[in-house]
Amino acid sequence: MTAKNYVLGLDIGTTSAKAVLFQKNGLVIAENENAYPVYHPNPSWVEQDPYEIERAAVAAISGAVQKSQINKNEIYCVSISSAMHSLICMDQNDEPISPSITWADGRSVDQASRVKDTFGKSLYLKTGTPIHPMAPLSKLIWMRETNYQPYLQSAKFISIKEFLIQRWFDKYIVDYAIASASGLFNIHTFEWEAEALFAAGITSDQLSEPVPSTTICQGLNKELAEQFHLSQDTPFVIGSSDGPLANLGIGAIDPGDVAITIGTSGAIRQMASKPQTDELQEIFCYGVTKDLWIMGGPTNNGGIVFQWLKDVLGEAEVQKALELNGSAYDLLTSLAQTAKPGANGLLFLPFLNGERAPYWDANARGSFIGLTLSHKKEHMIRAGLEGVIYSLYSIGETLERLAGQPATIFASGGFARSSLWLQILTDIFGQEVRVPASHQSSAWGAAWFGLYALGEVPSLSAIKESIPMNNTYIPNKTNHVIYQELYQTYRELYFALKPHFKALATIQRKEKK
Ligand code: ADP
Repeated sequence: MTAKNYVLGLDIGTTSAKAVLFQKNGLVIAENENAYPVYHPNPSWVEQDPYEIERAAVAAISGAVQKSQINKNEIYCVSISSAMHSLICMDQNDEPISPSITWADGRSVDQASRVKDTFGKSLYLKTGTPIHPMAPLSKLIWMRETNYQPYLQSAKFISIKEFLIQRWFDKYIVDYAIASASGLFNIHTFEWEAEALFAAGITSDQLSEPVPSTTICQGLNKELAEQFHLSQDTPFVIGSSDGPLANLGIGAIDPGDVAITIGTSGAIRQMASKPQTDELQEIFCYGVTKDLWIMGGPTNNGGIVFQWLKDVLGEAEVQKALELNGSAYDLLTSLAQTAKPGANGLLFLPFLNGERAPYWDANARGSFIGLTLSHKKEHMIRAGLEGVIYSLYSIGETLERLAGQPATIFASGGFARSSLWLQILTDIFGQEVRVPASHQSSAWGAAWFGLYALGEVPSLSAIKESIPMNNTYIPNKTNHVIYQELYQTYRELYFALKPHFKALATIQRKEKK
């Protein structure tokens, strides 16, 4: 028998499937990423094609294995991380009859707001899922109320990860964390929640069987194994959702360890040893294992804000980056660095995409506040980067209300490619920030869960010894004082502008029609 040395983490993200092959000590051997499109058949609808995602996932795995040139029999297992909140309707023949409706889909705004104003709190306290259009619960209510054809014909309602497991192993199972994020799962009993099923108009046999993250699927058929470039008996461990796996992969698992992830969206999260919900319903709490929960707050406006700034202000940098074969983000970051911390008193509210935590307001909108004739492009870019961090800081304050002050902050995600953005995070929070060497934390968390499921590592927390770290960022006290002063204004602005955001959002929706 060939000795095993490697483990594969598959991360089904919002825009791409990433496969990362690790050594058992966390060292990345090969990675491969395959993007898939996002469709907007209506302005607020956000859909994907489940088969396109499946093809990207298969190609990501086979690409990583081929790139690494290792012997496929040396792979312990594949373990899966996935974005939360997607919903697909499946027919009797296990064929998808709807697209995958993603977390970003806003079609059920009215349904979510009605549930929130009536029995929402009772549901939230049981499920830990804030009442919001992101959750499959709200989408199902929308489907029921609008007589959405696929809903009427659906035999099963599943997420994208369940779709992949069904395709590859012919069974309907769902890990606790993905189930938790549906808004239909009771985080105290680890069973589907009757009150939520009733609201959605479905029964529990229309959902998958909830199983622990350590659940192993085995027995790939020959053709599929060849497509993956894996051996037929490679175990697939079901894994968890990208949030808890990012915490695990970054080493943020003990009380006081806080993980901040900023990819396209962003989140601040902390593990808990009991389910902890929030009277104000600002924080999510999802089950991970039967003795581990994850609580935190997501923002819609992470790296997408920098992407937008690049698109609207960075034409010259995009052009230059093309010529130099470099990154427009790096050029814009260097420019932002020429502006002082606080961007000469310019604030940016980053709510370009509505906002989830801490306000849970789809009508929230972005704004520059405090512009003068002296402000230039560099100030606007810097204020944008700072605004994303103020927003995470405000979610952090909410989390602190429930979980206490963070002891250690860990950071990961695409934003961590910028040392300026990491320093802004460190200075706004006024605390040291630790950054792992690989920004593929969810994939490493998934891979570790896989090793744990196979009994190859003693515990989940033992991962702390196997996370190659990069730098630790140290706060600059002078900058922290500048940011604290600006934050006092930042935190008031959303509330001052809320009615105006609503008026503008209403006008914008009318214009789109
Ligand atoms: P996803 O959440 O889709 O998996 P990533 O974690 O790769 O995405 O993060 C993508 C974001 O990372 C982009 O929207 C951008 O804001 C940010 N980003 C990418 N490259 C850089 C860079 N060189 N410097 C700063 N930010 C970057």
